[in-house]
Amino acid sequence: MPSYTPMIQQYLHIKAQYPDAFLFFRLGDFYEMFFDDAIKAAQELEITLTSRDGGGDERVPMCGVPYHSAQGYIEQLVEKGYKVAICEQVEDPKTAKGVVRREVVQLVTPGTLMEGKGLTEKENHYLATLTPFADSTYGLAYADLSTGEVRLTLLSSWEETGNELHAIGAREIVISSDSAEEWVRELKERYGAAISYEDETWLRDEWSSVAGHVTQEKLRVTVARLLHYLVRTQKRQLDHLQPAELYQVDQYMKMDRHSKLHLELVETVRSKGRKGSLLWLLDETVTAMGGRLLKQWLDRPLIDQRAIERRLDFVETLKTSYFERHELRDRLRDVYDIERLVGRIAYGNANARDLVQLKKSLSQVPSLRQTVSGLPLAEVDELVGRLDPCEELVDLLERAIQEQPPLSIKEGNIIKDGYDERLDRYRDASRNGKAWIAELEAKEREVTGIKSLKVGYNRVFGYYIEVTKPNLPLIPEGRYERKQTLANAERFITAELKEKEALILEAEEKSVELEYELFVAIREQVKEYIPRLQTLAKAIAELDVLQALATVSDERRYVRPQFSTERVLAIEGGRHPVVEKVLGAQTYVPNDCYMNREREMLLITGPNMAGKSTYMRQVALTAIMAQIGCFVPAERAVLPIFDQVFTRIGAADDLSAGQSTFMVEMLEARRAITHATQNSLILFDEIGRGTSTYDGMALAQAMIEYIHDHIGAKTLFSTHYHELTALESSLERLCNVHARAVEENGKVVFLHQIADGPADRSYGIHVAELAGLPISLIERARDILAKLEQSSGNGSLEQGIGEEAGRENGSLMEAASQQQSELELTVGSAADRVVEQSVERQAEH
Ligand code: ADP
Repeated sequence: MPSYTPMIQQYLHIKAQYPDAFLFFRLGDFYEMFFDDAIKAAQELEITLTSRDGGGDERVPMCGVPYHSAQGYIEQLVEKGYKVAICEQVEDPKTAKGVVRREVVQLVTPGTLMEGKGLTEKENHYLATLTPFADSTYGLAYADLSTGEVRLTLLSSWEETGNELHAIGAREIVISSDSAEEWVRELKERYGAAISYEDETWLRDEWSSVAGHVTQEKLRVTVARLLHYLVRTQKRQLDHLQPAELYQVDQYMKMDRHSKLHLELVETVRSKGRKGSLLWLLDETVTAMGGRLLKQWLDRPLIDQRAIERRLDFVETLKTSYFERHELRDRLRDVYDIERLVGRIAYGNANARDLVQLKKSLSQVPSLRQTVSGLPLAEVDELVGRLDPCEELVDLLERAIQEQPPLSIKEGNIIKDGYDERLDRYRDASRNGKAWIAELEAKEREVTGIKSLKVGYNRVFGYYIEVTKPNLPLIPEGRYERKQTLANAERFITAELKEKEALILEAEEKSVELEYELFVAIREQVKEYIPRLQTLAKAIAELDVLQALATVSDERRYVRPQFSTERVLAIEGGRHPVVEKVLGAQTYVPNDCYMNREREMLLITGPNMAGKSTYMRQVALTAIMAQIGCFVPAERAVLPIFDQVFTRIGAADDLSAGQSTFMVEMLEARRAITHATQNSLILFDEIGRGTSTYDGMALAQAMIEYIHDHIGAKTLFSTHYHELTALESSLERLCNVHARAVEENGKVVFLHQIADGPADRSYGIHVAELAGLPISLIERARDILAKLEQSSGNGSLEQGIGEEAGRENGSLMEAASQQQSELELTVGSAADRVVEQSVERQAEH
């Protein structure tokens, strides 16, 4: 061990407790880093690496950032997944004996960011802790430190846990340090989260004696890990943490992450962005709090009809109360992010501007209350009750804080006159002194007769009287005392001037100090309102989401869904909400969908681009919108309440991706088949096309039969395998429908209409012909098709394949089908072109 200086020894001692974090070591006006931290930070932050003598044989690598701009650097490191331990001087260097005492005051981690660019306005920023139990269940607790929200749940399988982790998008996951390496890697890679550790040592001390219900125990361990980690890293009172909200995933409609992605609920498949998703369409919220809550609602559609109807009642009332809705939107626009303001207040980070924002937000509440209580709906009373205007707080902030305070809370100009007597006195003294000085110039000019005499101020000498050289003889003997000589003037002072100056400076210094004290005291007082402010913030968020849903429902002519307990689904004039918005309501072709106990499964056939997958998605989106409490894109909609939605809808690029895609497809199919109930909705788009024709067709048929016989879930199944349409005769509750397309004046027209019955089987060849493929090829295709139809009789799979006798025909059929599916591929892109051209032509007219 080299003989390091005491300071470097102190550094090493503290650093040893934070091996996985950058240690920002406060040295005067800088945070310094040493040794390996310095080398790594210099690279990551692109700052200069230097070195200093640390008492050892070699110089110690060092780099640093000024404390006043440290926040940006900390955020940069945390964004990259690192942690930063902030180590401050905790005693006054002037009075310290030996090395100044230093302590880590906060560990900033990816999941515990409180401010800065890393926080997205309309998104929660979660830190999660995960605890696996011996019985393969998992405890999950998560907190958004910026808003104070804490949630807690137990999950019955790893799969379910994965879905939850995806839904919350945690930035950091805290686990026990003896977790299996493989599992840690999976967490990191699959969920893109930083991993941290918090062990159960506390558990043994605190709870080993508590015997009780197993579930209770599990919940305790889970939430305790979260709280311990927060306390260990944040090292302060977390006054704004709300009581943990316990929930179970089966209180909500379940959707796995693939289904959510395929349906593009909160992001699109291609761009992974918000634009083009259902959230993008629905987000008419005007506050950050509302934006975050809307995403939570969309992530967790309800299954309790009473709760759904309550939301729908509100949406309906707001939809028809046009004036009130606009009034609410206007008021809500002036409401700042109260949840995050509260977080900053609890943390002691809030400045005077934050308190002004809080006051402005609160002063909207009385008119929000008034507008809401005027709505013709009994349930509004409960909401009005939660819209707490916190009048005494508004009053306090109104009396105390200036309207346009500076960012800094240490430079005065924060507190209003009349708030504090002492402050008023200091200010009077300073103002009187300044007024006296302001009058001095005129007085002295008169006494001396020097018109150019000036009274000025500079930092070094304070106030002075300045007389130009030619005028010096005019000054009466002994009147001024010489202070400073310039090239062409002299500066003087008088005893009285210095006396006033001292008074002013003292008053100003004291008032700045006092303002800081007063401000901190006010901020402490505001802390007492935290629970009330959080209740208010929730009520405002809810109101904002309800008005957003009402706004979209009104503007896009949606209708209130009705719910059927008889498992009836009847959608008239249904539309895909996002496609309708993008294409325009005139272009979009509405479609009906009828399903009931006798008509449980729809087998959808039709050419590429005819609108099959849009139709399937629109049914699922309609159900989801209904269950979050929104009106739906239809003329009339009766829906069952679905417990789960499963979708396997391949993106277009799956077509060329091959084997691994097929595996993914099968895994997703398995998920649906093992978990779905008769109250679920299943969407399977082109299942089986990722393998050879026989394989795929056989699997598709087996899946359809399985769902039909063993599950009874409402199922929409689109397919290229025309042969499957024959299943209608053997499966009672399966019906054929098809996406219509017609030929008009030698042009393919996709009608985007879904009609009963199977599609015309030779349709693909028509399209190919129109797309301009060689005529000999087309004739050959017709030939093959005819043979095919002959060999497979009425097209039933059982007759076509599987029997020994069919084998010979089989290879021919397989080749033909493959040819056909290749054809369809070409036709798909040709059809794109046809559509484009017809759109262009339309535009020309
Ligand atoms: P498929 O699944 O049959 O290949 P898609 O559902 O992908 O077809 O639809 C192809 C395109 O047709 C969509 O991108 C959309 O622009 C358009 N489309 C689909 N359904 C409709 C509709 N009901 N009205 C208008 N255009 C539609």
